[in-house]
Amino acid sequence: MVEVTPESSGPIYGVINEASDDESRVAVTPDVVRRLRKTGVPCLVESGAGMASHYSDDLYRDAGATVTDRDAVLARSDVLGFVSRPAPDLLDGIRPGTWIAGMLQSLTDQPYIDLLAAHRLVGIAMERLPRRLSSAQSMDEMTSQNSVMGYKAVLVAANAYGSFLPMMTTAAGTVRPAKVLVLGAGIAGLQAIGTARRLGAVVTAYDVRDASRSEVESLGASFLDLGVDLSSGQGEGGYARELTEDEKAAQQAAVDRRAAEFDIVITTAKVPGRRPPRLLTSSGVAGLRRGAVVVDCAASDLGGNVEGSVPGTLVTDNGVTLIGAPNLASEVPDTASALLSRNLADTVTHFITGSRLERTADDLGEALVVTPVVSSDASVESDPQEGE
Ligand code: NAD
Repeated sequence: MVEVTPESSGPIYGVINEASDDESRVAVTPDVVRRLRKTGVPCLVESGAGMASHYSDDLYRDAGATVTDRDAVLARSDVLGFVSRPAPDLLDGIRPGTWIAGMLQSLTDQPYIDLLAAHRLVGIAMERLPRRLSSAQSMDEMTSQNSVMGYKAVLVAANAYGSFLPMMTTAAGTVRPAKVLVLGAGIAGLQAIGTARRLGAVVTAYDVRDASRSEVESLGASFLDLGVDLSSGQGEGGYARELTEDEKAAQQAAVDRRAAEFDIVITTAKVPGRRPPRLLTSSGVAGLRRGAVVVDCAASDLGGNVEGSVPGTLVTDNGVTLIGAPNLASEVPDTASALLSRNLADTVTHFITGSRLERTADDLGEALVVTPVVSSDASVESDPQEGE
């Protein structure tokens, strides 16, 4: 039996080690362990969980967490926090009634949500939190991680680029500044614009949402005029809608044509729950100059914004470096973990009433993809009917 910090009677929060070749983040940091303990929530942390993001077991112990093995964390926790989500083969080791908070991919992977329901687990899908609620701002993991991603995308591009980003005057001549194009000017895109500007690049950006023009310009970048009317590109809730086939074709042709003017192209365009829009085709990539760099932050199993981009780096026949970068936040693991731990902890504590985890009556309940039901003997189980 694992000893859990005795002063607390709240639900136990557990985090396992998710580190892999593609993941360096951890779902709780020592600071957030302290924060949770103050609200009466003790923490179980798998040994080594924070090593890839430079948080040692000793730092967790100092913060008051119980550091133990994976099986104990899975079996003893009342709520488990994940950077992503538990692999299906872990679900048997988790007690029925346990709450699972993470990026559950509920908008694109219903079979997985059905699996959670079949195991009688309760799912908090971080991707479903209503982001515009002021009460949900500190829980908004998509915003925190996309900000980190946008920042890192510029550094990755700068590293692969064979010249300076800023203009530089030397005794041996003047180097012109790099021209950077950012496609998709949401959270990640705006952070990329700011970072590229701080490094001295001349930045141009584009988004289908009309509202983004003033945001782009307020950061000192130019808004790209594609010469295509997509002015109704904003859908519900301030997010982009999926374009029609004709609009997509017109947009692709225009982006392909205009991209040739730039040294670096960074794409961050997404539509929630849909495959990312294809913005730059192979012929657009072929039109870029030798030495140009493309970073596709939307690259994913569903495809990316750039035709031919796959996770990792490839150099095309015409000498363009094409970087598919679906998980850049993981490459800034210390800070990305600190931010997402706080997002997860604030979300989880929102659903704690007294010493119990409960569905709340407010809009944040929308994030529950498999909801709890209270059975007659008062033990909490999940309602599989709620999985959509
Ligand atoms: P996202 O990650 O879903 O998309 C990234 C960007 O890609 C968006 O700006 C979108 O308009 C753009 N895009 C989609 N399809 C495109 C296409 N075909 N061509 C070009 N661009 C395309 O979105 P996000 O970055 O998370 O946020 C989008 C908007 O929501 C922003 O305005 C953001 O400020 C707003 N937001 C508000 C809050 C809040 O009020 N608290 C929280 C989060 C986001």
